[in-house]
Formats: sequence, structure tokens, C-alpha cells
Amino acid sequence: MTDSQTCDYLLRVMAGDNEIRGFAVLATETISEAQRRHGTLPAATAALGRTMAAAVMMGAMLKGEDKVFIQVLGDGPVGRIMADADAYGKVRGYIENPLVHLPPNAQGKIDVARAVGQGQLVVIKDLGLKEPYRGTVPLVSGELGEDFAYYFLASEQVPSAVALGVLVERDGSVRAAGGLIVQLMPGAREELADLLTERFTNMPPFTRMIDSGMKPEEILHMTLGDLDLKVLERTPVRFHCTCSRERLEQVLIAMGREELEDMLAAQQDAEITCRFCSNVYRFTPLELKRLILQT
Ligand SMILES: [Zn+2]
Repeated sequence: MTDSQTCDYLLRVMAGDNEIRGFAVLATETISEAQRRHGTLPAATAALGRTMAAAVMMGAMLKGEDKVFIQVLGDGPVGRIMADADAYGKVRGYIENPLVHLPPNAQGKIDVARAVGQGQLVVIKDLGLKEPYRGTVPLVSGELGEDFAYYFLASEQVPSAVALGVLVERDGSVRAAGGLIVQLMPGAREELADLLTERFTNMPPFTRMIDSGMKPEEILHMTLGDLDLKVLERTPVRFHCTCSRERLEQVLIAMGREELEDMLAAQQDAEITCRFCSNVYRFTPLELKRLILQT
């Protein structure tokens, strides 16, 4: 289990005559923690960080104990990316190949599209119902912001603008990370759609905004400030993994008696690493014996 306090936070806003909703997140410390835990190199850091920034904003669209699980299943060198979040700003993420570094793209930016490749974006929402909601769309760009915007439009029929950004220092650490989602609610006036499209087209690059130290309030104010902007909620954001020793014990028990007896025969501590947070859990031969009795 991990739980650290950060200065990161997310704002949820409404604008227009409740025709627009917006989410903006500052996630620098959260993505830094993911970078350190997984030892990601820049292209992997950007791909994982963008996915986690989207996940935490999509978590803020949920209520109560609901959860959102994101899977980016591309054929690029970073492999599979997963992130999940709840409604309270807790997010974690995993990337299959953390050691991916690529030459910059034509714009001189981290080439996330190449790192991710082509494939699918899967969104699963556990809304406490019998069956989770599941939406799958093709990756349309691999840059991820556009891919999430396409998901909202194609799978949820919600016109959305999505900007995700992760800036990486020369030493590989995270300088700034965050995201912005603006969505048109059903029944929104046509002219608002045109206005927002124009505004997003002319907006400075998102990474430049967060690099200049702009806070979520300032980003939202710049985007929606003249449209009767109302801040509804401010939620602290942090990297949080739900793993625990008890959960890992259940994983071991589920592996079955034979597997556990093999581990015991090796006469060494068994080690299990949580793939979401890289915490290592050790089980002594004595503990393994106790678990074998439970299989
Ligand atoms: Zn964990």
C-alpha cells in the first residue's frame, strides 16, 4: 500500500448554462512518483503519465466507490499501458516496457505516438452494477489526448477536447505533468461547440502552459473564464496503489499448492512485485508453509 501527500490537485468545473463541464489536473508529483517507481525513460514516462492524467480526470467523473480502468493496447515499443483511478484523486499506472526512449518527433517533442503505436483504447468502468461498463475504440493518433477525445465522442457520445502533457527533464525526471478535459453536455447550444473548437485550436500547446507554471484554475480560466465558470470541486491527487500483503497472499494461494511447494523447496524467500507500484513483498519459507495449508 502506498499513500503519500502531494501538492497535486484536480478541479471540476461547470460553465455556460451548465452546458459545459471541465476538469483540469496538476499531476507533476503523482507522475514523478510513477516515473521513479517504474524507472521509466522519457518516451515511456510521457505515455504512462498522459494515460494516468486522463485516468484521474475520468475518475473525477465517477461517484462513490466507482472506479475507472484504462488500457492502452498499442503495438509500439512501450507495449501495454494500464491506469486506474477512483473518484477521490487516487491513481496508479503500469507500463509494460518502461525502458523506452525515442528520438524526438518532427515538432521536437517526445514521440508518444510512435512509443504507443496503433491499437485500441479500452475504458472499463466499475459502477457497482452487475456488469462493468466497457468501451473500446481504435487508437486514432497514439498521442493519447486525441485518442481519449475520440473515445468520449465515439463511445460515450460526448463531444470533448482533451489535452494531456508530461514534460521530462534532461535527467529523466518529470518537470511538469497535467491534463485538461472540456466536454459539451447534452443540449448545449451549437454556438458553444464552435466557440470551444476555435478556442482549443488557438490555445498555446498544453505542455507550454504547464511548463510556464500555469495552475488548473488559470488553465480553466483561460479556456472558460468568460462563460460563467463555476468551480464545483477541488480534489487532492496522488499516486495510490491498492496492493497489500493480504492481497498478495491471496494471489499466492490462488497459484495453487504445487507452485507453492516448488517455492518452498527452493528454501528461499518468495518475492512478489506489484506491477502497479513496484513494491516488493517477501514471504519466508515459514509463511509459505502457512499459505500452503490454505490451498
Ligand atoms: Zn502495488
